Amino acid sequence: MEFDLTDDQRQIQEAVRAFSAAEVAPYASKWDEEQRLPPEIYQKLGGLGLMGMTVPEDHGGAGVDFISSILAIEELAYAHGSLALSVAAHNSLACGQIEASGTPEQKAKFLVPLASGRKLGAWALTESVSGSDAAGMRSTAVPARGGWELNGSKQFTTNGAAADLYVIMVKTDPAAGSHGITAFIVERGTPGLTVGKKEDKLGMRASDTVSLTLDHVHVPSENLLGQPGHGFIDALARLDRGRVGIGGMAIGLGRAALDAAVAYAGQREQFGQSLASFQAIQWMIADSATELEAAQLLVLRAASLQQRSLPCTKECAMAKLFASEAGLRVTDRALQIHGGYGYIRETRVERYFRDARLCTIGEGTSEIQRLVIARRILETARP
Ligand SMILES: Cc1cc2nc3c(=O)[nH]c(=O)nc-3n(C[C@H](O)[C@H](O)[C@H](O)COP(=O)(O)OP(=O)(O)OC[C@H]3O[C@@H](n4cnc5c(N)ncnc54)[C@H](O)[C@@H]3O)c2cc1C
Repeated sequence: MEFDLTDDQRQIQEAVRAFSAAEVAPYASKWDEEQRLPPEIYQKLGGLGLMGMTVPEDHGGAGVDFISSILAIEELAYAHGSLALSVAAHNSLACGQIEASGTPEQKAKFLVPLASGRKLGAWALTESVSGSDAAGMRSTAVPARGGWELNGSKQFTTNGAAADLYVIMVKTDPAAGSHGITAFIVERGTPGLTVGKKEDKLGMRASDTVSLTLDHVHVPSENLLGQPGHGFIDALARLDRGRVGIGGMAIGLGRAALDAAVAYAGQREQFGQSLASFQAIQWMIADSATELEAAQLLVLRAASLQQRSLPCTKECAMAKLFASEAGLRVTDRALQIHGGYGYIRETRVERYFRDARLCTIGEGTSEIQRLVIARRILETARP
């Protein structure tokens, strides 16, 4: 098995690392405090090709491979979890579903401005009544006036406050369960679409998360995305890819926390010795580094399977499960190594810890990943 990155992948990784160090890391605490990302950052990211990473160049994207896109998310997360989350949701969910299921006209009209960074996308599956059980959604669309009329609400929509367009999943045939869900593209400003207030979150505070209300929202028939009744299946395919991105995000946050902890352990002295000389601290560093490397391998394997279009739902779930839980342990240990100073805002580790907490929840909780993994194993087990 080949573990080395290609020259292209390494170049993208280095370019995003340099960009993040110069344009993101210095402002990360400020943006977190203000609970907002400046709109200009998306134009800069667009200039680097990071707003349509895997979107082909003829649709305004960078056309890079999936592994490169995950490496980029990891590098953004190293500098700022919130930015990585917003960029990941825009890329893998909103752009991703239009890229995978859109008509040529939809791609020309909606994907090109998204992929170039001129517009921001959001993706709305979750509702207040349906999170893990996403197919239990209640929002509906019925044919009306040469198009469709959407009613209902969505919960926890990343980028929802700032987005220019939304990919929204609703039921078009409630009796058909998960096979009666259809995706629609809804543009910001469409009458009846109301964006709720930003959630006041524990972490990822600069990435906005909002509810959406759909009150007799009329959508033209050309905005129906994919096949009617296929929206949930298409959404699950997005989540397979998105979960690898969350894994990369957790690794980026974990690496940032570990680097901060190693630096701090080398400089802080207690009992006349540096913290780094205590075996208890060394073991935390060793465990963290090992878990991050293991997470990286799982994430790269899942990304590699994805980009070769091989079956990988189980592997994506494993990568997300392990990387997000490892990210949490690593950021927790980093905070512990900082002692009381880790608990205050001025040291960045408390932000890494808060941001990492999301990774075991968003795009399917750890419990749901375990369920997906176990189901795949049991289904294929020999009698
Ligand atoms: C910051 C943030 C950003 C988000 N962004 C988006 C977005 O852009 N678009 C979008 O559509 N959604 C988004 N989400 C929603 C996210 O995907 C859901 O929060 C997540 O899937 C869990 O759903 P829930 O919160 O309703 O929890 P619930 O489903 O109510 O789960 C509560 C608890 O019960 C457990 N549980 C549920 N069912 C089972 C089961 N069968 N077996 C064992 N345990 C179970 C869960 O693991 C969890 O521990 C976001 C959420 C957050 C917090």
